[in-house]
Amino acid sequence: MSGDGSRNVTFVLPIYNEEGNIPRLYERLDAVASVLNYGVEMIFINDGSTDNSLNLLTALQDRDQRVTIIDLARNFGHQLAVTAGLDASTGDAVIVLDSDMQDPPEICLELVKRWEAGYDVVYAQRRTRKDTAFKKWTAAAFYRLLGRVADVDIPPNTGDFRLMDRRVVDEVNKYREHDRFLRGMVSHVGFKQVAVQFDRDERFAGTSGYPLRKMFKLAAAGILGFSTFPLTLISRVGFGVAALSICGVLYAMYMKIFVPAAVVEGWTFIVISILFMGGLQLIMLGILGGYIGRIYTEVQDRPLYSVREIRGNAARTSRRVEQASEL
Ligand code: UDP
Ligand code: MG
Repeated sequence: MSGDGSRNVTFVLPIYNEEGNIPRLYERLDAVASVLNYGVEMIFINDGSTDNSLNLLTALQDRDQRVTIIDLARNFGHQLAVTAGLDASTGDAVIVLDSDMQDPPEICLELVKRWEAGYDVVYAQRRTRKDTAFKKWTAAAFYRLLGRVADVDIPPNTGDFRLMDRRVVDEVNKYREHDRFLRGMVSHVGFKQVAVQFDRDERFAGTSGYPLRKMFKLAAAGILGFSTFPLTLISRVGFGVAALSICGVLYAMYMKIFVPAAVVEGWTFIVISILFMGGLQLIMLGILGGYIGRIYTEVQDRPLYSVREIRGNAARTSRRVEQASEL
């Protein structure tokens, strides 16, 4: 691998009850690290494991100074564990991968190659995956929905397995929203992104720490975090109902005027007011939705833009621009 050894690559590895995987994971990472001509940093985030994971990590850290452990005070979930790792990382490139070896460490070599070729984000995209049919099906449905409604292009069939250049990590770290969908944020910041295809393996040992409940939470974070589509849906339905209610009003009036014998006393007034109020309420809710959407965006408080580079000699300007984008 090229690289003169003066630059560093950080591996970010979230750990939740991975005692069966840690020794083998470390072995494979170590083999990858020995081929890389970069300084290597391995950040293991212990996300409140209840098994022997922390002891295994501590033993690794005792004998290998490349190893850092961030021991979270309880289980905060995968996305926050990875966030803690990104916050602490110092490498010129940072690679996030699962610790159950579903993301084969050897693929990191390819990710680094693409980074050396000038890409800022190299995401590993699953060509195939060995998961349950249910997981495959729900994932496919989720990505289809996300692709339809999200404001940014979030590549399908990618998890958080990816390499990010330091500049990208610094930008992503400015996103401090609580319900985190990291891959959405990485798409949101932009930069030169490219995919590398890989075959996703089976989990080596242990069981998935992502039960259905957590999967839904993540899916909701993805859709609600990167789309206001559900909110705009309210006003769309409102206008639909309002249009229908006009038809209803016309029908009720027609009946009243031309077929009065078929109309019960008071019917016209009740029907017209129900339809009218229904449409009106939904439109009003839609207006509320518009404001809530704006409040939401303000509360998320994301950076307004991210800068790839500033050319020219306006060093002072550039500093101001960088500060402004941090506000
Ligand atoms: N993980 C974590 N906290 C959690 C759940 C999972 O840090 O609450 C880690 C886990 O150790 C693994 C990665 O996140 O390294 C992916 O989790 P898992 O393999 O259980 O998810 P799946 O592959 O089944 O979606
Ligand atoms: Mg897994």
